[in-house]
Amino acid sequence: MATTPTADTEARELAARLRDRGLRWTQQRAEVLSAVRSLGHGTPEQIAAAAPNADLTTVYRTLELLEDLGVVAHAHLDHGAPAYRPADDRHIHVVCHSCSAVIPAPDGLADELIQRLALERDFAVDVAHFTVFGICSNCRDGHVMAAGHSHAHDHAASGEQKSAQER
Ligand SMILES: [Zn+2]
Ligand SMILES: [Zn+2]
Ligand SMILES: [Zn+2]
Repeated sequence: MATTPTADTEARELAARLRDRGLRWTQQRAEVLSAVRSLGHGTPEQIAAAAPNADLTTVYRTLELLEDLGVVAHAHLDHGAPAYRPADDRHIHVVCHSCSAVIPAPDGLADELIQRLALERDFAVDVAHFTVFGICSNCRDGHVMAAGHSHAHDHAASGEQKSAQER
């Protein structure tokens, strides 16, 4: 079992890795990381709002850097900007279309999917990157599912640059 490093240990490790790239571990970068951790899943706008010293541009750059370092990763929880999450959040995302709630997935939910794609297609599923959409029980009670809801996705427009995950 991997243990979660304390904030201090993690900051020291990150600082060392950034030094190798000629970068520094700044207050702004620390704020962005702690905003991702406290939000659990946050869009760049939400993260910027929670990181008082980092503007949106800094947040985008920092998220890109932290994703490159394998500290955070993104998931697609709606049709807008990707949501960033700690990289150790590896659960499958089950999200309500209507209220955007992220519902805890039952254990092992994607096991067969992962196993079959691995065995039958030699394909490795990036579980936390994909999302199962639907309607949660709260929204279903008393609400009629919105008709004609568009599912058009434009990955390129949501700041997606990397085509492969380097982990
Ligand atoms: Zn993506
Ligand atoms: Zn998550
Ligand atoms: Zn809902």
